[in-house]
Amino acid sequence: MNILIIGTGYVGITMILAFAEMGNRVTGYDTDREKVNRLNMGLLPIHEPELKETLSKHLQHNRIVFSADAEKSIQHNDVIFICVGTPARADGGANLRYIKLAAEQIGRYINGYKLVVIKSTAPVGTQQKMVRWISLAQIHYNNVLHPFDVSSNPEFLREGNALADALNPDRVIIGSTSKRATDILKTIYNKAACPVFITRPKEAELIKYASNAFLATKISFINELSRLCDKMGVDVREVASGMGMDKRIGSLFLKAGIGYGGSCFPKDVSALLWEASNQQISLSILEKVAEINRSQPIYLMARLKERLGGFSNRIIAVLGVSFKPDTDDIRESPAIGIIQKLLAEKAVVRVHDPVARVPAQLFDYGVEECVSPRLAAKDADAIVICTDWPQYSKLNWPQMKKIMKFPCILDGRNMLSAKTMRRIGFDYMGVGSR
Ligand code: NAD
Repeated sequence: MNILIIGTGYVGITMILAFAEMGNRVTGYDTDREKVNRLNMGLLPIHEPELKETLSKHLQHNRIVFSADAEKSIQHNDVIFICVGTPARADGGANLRYIKLAAEQIGRYINGYKLVVIKSTAPVGTQQKMVRWISLAQIHYNNVLHPFDVSSNPEFLREGNALADALNPDRVIIGSTSKRATDILKTIYNKAACPVFITRPKEAELIKYASNAFLATKISFINELSRLCDKMGVDVREVASGMGMDKRIGSLFLKAGIGYGGSCFPKDVSALLWEASNQQISLSILEKVAEINRSQPIYLMARLKERLGGFSNRIIAVLGVSFKPDTDDIRESPAIGIIQKLLAEKAVVRVHDPVARVPAQLFDYGVEECVSPRLAAKDADAIVICTDWPQYSKLNWPQMKKIMKFPCILDGRNMLSAKTMRRIGFDYMGVGSR
């Protein structure tokens, strides 16, 4: 099948490769011409396992092409997946500006039947809006009106494991009321070894928000519980392990830490809360989830501050900037808030991350980027682990202790063994494991 992906960001690039792997010919269209040129040369804008090799394989075999030409891209493909961003507006709701622009381009250049599939995370009612936007653009630009369908097919991939998730999803959700559209989508996903759940577009749209909101709830639940554990001398890791053995609960997303981040959970929780308040419905659990997530890094930094007797002129080594390992994505990463807090309190901040870069504006405030954790930790008063990159657990910690001024560590991801770190001589602070 010939498939067009509109938007070559994190999801777009991953889906282009996944659909090519499934045997389709895929065009990636983006308004960012420079990104398109670089992608055609095999240069990726993101760090994500397996993408580079898969991209060069499909470029060589001409199964993938990237284009900045909307007209040709839309006219040469009959199935169009929308993968543009839906960032948060200032009031918390989802900004549908990019989706609307894509709809207008489709309406303008449509030249026959098109199936338009919304893969971007978009609020309930977006599929209906998309139908209206495409129709209005058709009326505005064309004499002939061509038929089209719009379906919802939310994406659930996790950054750090994006391609593997896109190729082996837990479920495929199809929100469609058109048999023709449903049949095409079933054919596209016919190799997926998972349930294909067909429902109406509205339900499909809410399934995505409800799923992310539920996962965020698990994280905030265990993070809040970790504060009680701190007070009572209970190890939250042991508690989470015991809880997770219950199949009804499950062990995933029950790891206490500095809070969730990334391009999805914070904005999707806030968009769902906005939608609820727009409908005069209170989602009070979710309000609390967001509040706990905002206060978790503040709570942990207060503990560290108390231990050090203040941050002023203290050298703090921050290990990890990305919101999770195996990605360079720093969108809504809790590490950024932690770095800003340390700088505001006049600490000397040294940062290391294997792939992610510190936002340029933080350099103006004196952040030092280090090429190794060792350089970051030299003469430091404390280490703060913000991202659980596997390489941090393999560091030579006895040596790290020797080069520090004061061997204090806040393990914001509970990735190290408290027992081992204390045996080495660290003043070790985990999350919920005092
Ligand atoms: P992104 O910001 O990384 O990429 C968006 C891309 O769309 C950019 O390259 C931009 O130039 C392009 N674009 C914007 N408007 C365009 C237009 N009119 N025509 C062509 N290109 C256009 O976004 P992302 O992280 O890939 O997320 C995309 C959507 O998928 C969002 O709704 C997000 O919530 C959802 N999602 C993201 C993830 C994730 O892990 N990142 C997972 C599941 C779902």
